[in-house]
Amino acid sequence: MEAPACSSAETMEEAARRAGQGSLLDRYKADYPVGPHDKPQSMCPAFGSLRTGLRMRRVATVLSGSACCVYGLTFVSHFYGARRSVGYVPFDSETLVTGKLFEDIREAVHKLADPAKYDAIVVTNLCVPTASGVPLRLLPDEIDGVRIVGIDVPGFGIPTHAEAKDVLASAMLSYARREVAAGPVPAPASGVEARPTVTLLGEMFPADPIGIGGMLAPLGLAAGPVVPCREWRELYSALDCGAVAAIHPFYTASIREFEAAGRPILPSAPVGVDGTNAWLEAVGDAFGLPQGKVEAAQNAVLPAMRGAFDAARIDGTITVSGYEGSELLVARLLIESGAKVPYVGTACAKTPWSAPDVEWLAAHDCEVRFRASLEDDLAVVEGLRPDLAIGTTPVVQKAKELGVPSLYFTNLISARPLMGIAGAGSLQQVVSAAMGNRDRMGRMRAFFDGVGHGDTAGIWEGDPNLRPDFRETNAKKMGKRERAKNAEAMI
Ligand code: SF4
Repeated sequence: MEAPACSSAETMEEAARRAGQGSLLDRYKADYPVGPHDKPQSMCPAFGSLRTGLRMRRVATVLSGSACCVYGLTFVSHFYGARRSVGYVPFDSETLVTGKLFEDIREAVHKLADPAKYDAIVVTNLCVPTASGVPLRLLPDEIDGVRIVGIDVPGFGIPTHAEAKDVLASAMLSYARREVAAGPVPAPASGVEARPTVTLLGEMFPADPIGIGGMLAPLGLAAGPVVPCREWRELYSALDCGAVAAIHPFYTASIREFEAAGRPILPSAPVGVDGTNAWLEAVGDAFGLPQGKVEAAQNAVLPAMRGAFDAARIDGTITVSGYEGSELLVARLLIESGAKVPYVGTACAKTPWSAPDVEWLAAHDCEVRFRASLEDDLAVVEGLRPDLAIGTTPVVQKAKELGVPSLYFTNLISARPLMGIAGAGSLQQVVSAAMGNRDRMGRMRAFFDGVGHGDTAGIWEGDPNLRPDFRETNAKKMGKRERAKNAEAMI
């Protein structure tokens, strides 16, 4: 699902501010700063929070928004295997302006709140209800023990679906923090870890938390839960950690919750030899461990990682772009594998937690562009003609048109381990196989040359019946209208 055809962001924002949502939008602006571009150029941002909620056990999800948005979001969530229903409270102009929509949401939540089935219900305002100020904050905090979490995830306030995950994760952490402050809370189904833990922030390949746990074990530590969590009670364990690893650095609001709970935050991630070395050092500092213990943990993993990198070299120039938030980590791995990576673009914003990665990449001749626009990414592929372009759907499409081998970031790169020994060399096979396709791409390009562009787009049994005169006439009419409008404005 690519760029949604959404209403003017300015109009929606103005409406939201008039409806009393100013402080919410200001907070989003501070948490998720925009620029150079400020519009979602990927899927609807709300998909991030929707997916996060749908992956949690005993959590129900209710959307409030335009039917077309909800259709698109539920379609994509089922495409990605949600395997559960998405609740929807429809509205029309009348229920929206009279405030009846909020009453309908409240009624829906009351009907749904069955403690035998759910720990929590997440209600999400999409663009139109956010712009209209539908006050989810007035929903009850809980109904019969079922927690109610209301969030606004408008496309005009949240730039990427990655950052929308943070909106829901932080709202849940905030709720759980209040529960912890109020008294004892139940242990997670998986039990309580006896060793001090490091909570892992950011969705990652399932083998990665296990690999990180293995690296922490010689330090007498364990990997804590991954946030966004998979069940409500994991939130308590996540808060009850010794430190938080900001593996994905864009979780600004969640980090604020952890900081409020007094937890230190570790930047970057155990990715590649240099990254893992520095990360284990930072863990040692955060837990006040003796240097000898940290060195032992480093020695337990770094030689094997060097060996894995030596055995899986990548030879070629690769550009990386994406909107997952792990783009910098992937670039680091590729460079340590021997590839030249002159450019990495991420749709996410710069935060303090990616600073070590930015510094490392700059020292390895890699330009990092935060809030990279699609135009930035396309221009780089077009200008550099790399041996491989790793990117989003439109970047891959452009690369194919140019005969440049390409790989989808989300499907093919995010679906691999990146951390520790498993991460070292894990990209080599898929990357080298793709780069080996250059000749085939060239042949395909020659075969399809001219297909799918301009007048030749679509399926034709004969030659298209071109009528450039129609376009010329329309262009003249539009020019005339424009001149008349300008003349009127001057009077
Ligand atoms: S919720 Fe907003 S950003 Fe998402 S598809 Fe609808 S209008 Fe676009």
